[in-house]
Amino acid sequence: MNTINSIDYPVYFTDTLNQLVNFVEKGNYSRFFILTDEHTEKHCLPLLQDKLVHLNHQYDIIEVNAGEESKTIDFCAGIWKMLIDFGADRHSLLINLGGGVIGDMGGFAASTFKRGIDFVQVPTTLLSQVDASVGGKTGIDFDNLKNIIGTFTSPKAVFIEHSFLHTLPIRQILSGYAEMLKHGLIADASYWNELKGKGDDLGLPEAKLIYQSVAIKNNVVVTDPLEKGYRKCLNFGHTIGHAIETYSLNNDEQYLTHGEAVVIGMVCEAWLSHQKAGLSKGELDEITAVLTNLYPKYPLEESCHAVLHDLMKTDKKNEAGKINCTLLSKIGECSIDHICTEEELCDSLNYYAR
Ligand code: NAD
Ligand code: ZN
Repeated sequence: MNTINSIDYPVYFTDTLNQLVNFVEKGNYSRFFILTDEHTEKHCLPLLQDKLVHLNHQYDIIEVNAGEESKTIDFCAGIWKMLIDFGADRHSLLINLGGGVIGDMGGFAASTFKRGIDFVQVPTTLLSQVDASVGGKTGIDFDNLKNIIGTFTSPKAVFIEHSFLHTLPIRQILSGYAEMLKHGLIADASYWNELKGKGDDLGLPEAKLIYQSVAIKNNVVVTDPLEKGYRKCLNFGHTIGHAIETYSLNNDEQYLTHGEAVVIGMVCEAWLSHQKAGLSKGELDEITAVLTNLYPKYPLEESCHAVLHDLMKTDKKNEAGKINCTLLSKIGECSIDHICTEEELCDSLNYYAR
C-alpha cells in the first residue's frame, strides 16, 4: 500500500505530506497557492504548514466558503481574480486542500487559468479520497445543475493523508462510505462483503480500505479515461442520486450529502437492476437491507417525482433525451447503458419510499 499509478499521475498513500513537499521542491514552480475552505483552513492547513516551513518558497492561501453552494462560477471567478492579484503565472502550482468541492472547483480553475496551470489534489474528506481525487474530472455547478461545466484534466499528483479524516464529522464519513460501497457493488463482491461485514459499526475506515477503494476506481478510469463506455459503471446510483441531491439542495434546509443521495439512487437503481439487468431478488434484498440500515430514510413524496424526472433529463449521461442508467447484473458486476422510462424511474422511487 504505497503508490497507485493513475492515468498519468501518481496517487500517494504513505508519508504523503513529506511527498508533497518534495514534489513542490522538485517542481521548480515560480509560486504556489493553497486553496482551502474555512474548515480545511482550520483543520488541515496547519498540518501542511508544519511541513512547508522547511521549504524556502513563498506561497499564498486562497480561501472559499465551505460547501456545495460555493461550487459556482462566481467563486471560481474569485479564485481566478486572487490568482491574478497574487501574480500567478503559467509556472505556478495550485494545491487543492479540501473535499470534493475544493478539488473539483480548484481543478477547474487551474485547468482554465492561463490555459492551464499545474495543480495537485490533497483530498481531506473520505468521499474525495476514495472517489473525487482520481479520474481527472474537474468542474462546477451552473444553473442549478451539478457539474454541468468542467474539463477532463489530470492533476500532477494526488496525496491521500489518512490523518486529515480525524476531524471529519460522521455524516461526511458516511457520505464517503457510500462511494466505497458502490465500488464493491460495481466491481468487487469481496470488497462489498468486507464492508457489509462491518454491520452498522462504521467508524473511520482503515487506510487499507481506502486504498482498495481507490484501486477499484483507478482500474476503471485507466481503462476508459474519457468515459466512452466502461467508466459509466461508476455512475451506478448516480442518475437518480444526482437528481435527488440537486432536489434537496434546492428544496431543503437540511440538504443531503452527495453520498446520502447516491445511497437512495443505489437502492432505486438496484430495483431497476432486478427488473432490467438480471440482478437476483436475493441480491436486491441484500443491497436494500444494507443501505437502508446504514443511512437515514429520506421522505420522497410522489409529488416530487415530476421534478426529479425533469432533473434526470438533464443528466450528462443521456443521449437523444433518453435517461440512461448504469445497473448491476449481480453484486460485483455492472451493466451499462440501460434506457429507463419515466414510469420505471417512478416505480423505483416508490420502491425506495415504500
Ligand atoms: P465538501 O468538499 O463540501 O466537504 C464536505 C464538508 O467537509 C465541507 O464542509 C468541508 O469544509 C468539510 N471538510 C473537508 N475536510 C474536512 C476535514 N478534514 N475535517 C473537517 N471538515 C472537513 O464535499 P465532499 O463530500 O468532499 O465532495 C462532494 C463534491 O465532490 C460534490 O461536489 C461532487 O460533485 C464532487 N465529486 C466529484 C467527483 C469527481 O470525480 N471529480 C467524484 C465524486 C464527487
Ligand atoms: Zn459520486
